[in-house]
Amino acid sequence: MQDASSSPTPVESAPLLGIDLGTTNSLIAVWQDGKAQLIANAVGEVLTPSVVSVDEDGSILVGSAARARLTTHPHRTAAAFKRFMGSDKRFELGEHRFTPEELSALVLGSLKQDAEAYLGCPVSEAVISVPAYFSDEQRKRTVFAAELAGLKVQRLINEPTAAAMAYGLHEQKFERTLVFDLGGGTFDVTVLEYALPLIEVHASTGDNYLGGEDFTDALLKACLSDWQLTLESLEPQALASLHDAIEQLKRDIGEGSLTLTWNGDGQAREWLLDQARLQSIWAPLLARVRTPIEQALRDARLSPRELDSLVLVGGATRMPQIQQLVAKLFGRLPYRHLDPDTIVALGAASQAACKARDAAIDELILTDVCPYTLGVASSRGEEVSGAFTPIIERNTVIPTSRVQRFYSTHPEQKVVRIAVYQGERPWVRDNILVDSFEIPLQPTGQVQSLDVRFSYDINGLLEVDVTFLETGHKHSHSIDRSPTGLDSEARQASHERLARLKIHPRDALPNRTLLARLERAWMQSLGDERDLIGSWLDAFNAVLAGQQAAEISRQRLQLSQALDELRY
Ligand code: AMP
Repeated sequence: MQDASSSPTPVESAPLLGIDLGTTNSLIAVWQDGKAQLIANAVGEVLTPSVVSVDEDGSILVGSAARARLTTHPHRTAAAFKRFMGSDKRFELGEHRFTPEELSALVLGSLKQDAEAYLGCPVSEAVISVPAYFSDEQRKRTVFAAELAGLKVQRLINEPTAAAMAYGLHEQKFERTLVFDLGGGTFDVTVLEYALPLIEVHASTGDNYLGGEDFTDALLKACLSDWQLTLESLEPQALASLHDAIEQLKRDIGEGSLTLTWNGDGQAREWLLDQARLQSIWAPLLARVRTPIEQALRDARLSPRELDSLVLVGGATRMPQIQQLVAKLFGRLPYRHLDPDTIVALGAASQAACKARDAAIDELILTDVCPYTLGVASSRGEEVSGAFTPIIERNTVIPTSRVQRFYSTHPEQKVVRIAVYQGERPWVRDNILVDSFEIPLQPTGQVQSLDVRFSYDINGLLEVDVTFLETGHKHSHSIDRSPTGLDSEARQASHERLARLKIHPRDALPNRTLLARLERAWMQSLGDERDLIGSWLDAFNAVLAGQQAAEISRQRLQLSQALDELRY
């Protein structure tokens, strides 16, 4: 784990911040003294687990303490909620009920507090990264999560683009590069070209539902099936502890074999995993990695041989099986010089500096693309309805504004319905509905022509303008509410729900985090080791009761190291 430096330079103007709001971990970085630097959280780590838990006293815990409670208190804890951004999913945590964006807001709020503690001044704006393949709705929800956390989004930057920016600044030597970004929950492929000061994104594709968590889940299911158990047959605590053990197995297995031993449901069990079995369990997931790569190269009109370099981003690219697949697909080894966990946050902070025209970076110009096709539902002739007519094609350079002409279907028509879709399939039923709205028509007794203009900005947000040519009537619509979208009432309710929450005090987090880790370790261990951990738990509670700050921090450090050594 990387520590951020502890002596900040005083900041005169508004700090230039970049946030990587990840499925598994989130990070915050600041542009300072001509470079991007990571900011450590209250427990001294730069990776803050994107996990939220409601403590027994009703207060909200974010980060490592919450992650430890995922095992001990699964009913009061939520993780990987970014995967549900833009959906109607609700998370029940004890007596609370949260939307994915409210949980994301709690993570953002915690990062904001860390930045304020480090910089010694209030923080109100940041560049936030999102998966390139995030839909319009998912982007809007991210902006709303930031608003809930009291942050204005200066810009949403696509994660691979942020990574490319950090690499570009660091190396300044690549030309045509493919960024392969496999995080906890999403997969993005971006092809870009550096001709410094210009960084030009040529194509971005991906899969919003493929990430490292799917590799863990596939192992979990195979293991349960070998033991003739089901997900439903295990108590939530036992399931959470098995999930932990499988996650560790995934990280440890490398290119060899391992045997998992587990007794979380009161019965001693073993599971042997070798490479042949691993490959067969992961084959369907590894196959899904190929399609977006092929599409990105085709859209960028490049063959694998024409790429100058390959960059791996995201924690899941640490898996040797992924590195081998990439090496095989491209016939060369990927470039892995920078830390795949931290690169996106550093790039986002660089983008913040770029936007603010910081002297060290103002030369750099970044162009990005719209990663998916946007269009409307239309009819072809009398018979065929539900066809998809593209207006902005995927991988068009943004910002962009494109117009397409349509006609009303009959002279008596009183209303035109504009249904906006995103996707690559010829029929709208197979694409994602972004928004739909109706515009009244002024009757002219004739079929009318209308120009539909789509304007897509650098944050990936869309506006639709419709002009009726015969009457000159104009209608402007910014897409801020999709069929699953938020109306102002829902937004207000979220604001009120969060305002009522009690956030665990930041100063008390290091102690609370150690207690949560000790409890998890006690739960996961047996026999002598459990007795030992139990004695540590009692000893630390006694030291806390003594209220001697120096003694508390000495013990905390000692016990954290002891837990690290035991790998808890
Ligand atoms: P990110 O969202 O980029 O932080 O990626 C998190 C994902 O990376 C999670 O699914 C982790 O399980 C995975 N991951 C992190 N480190 C490793 C590792 N050493 N081996 C395998 N997967 C890892």
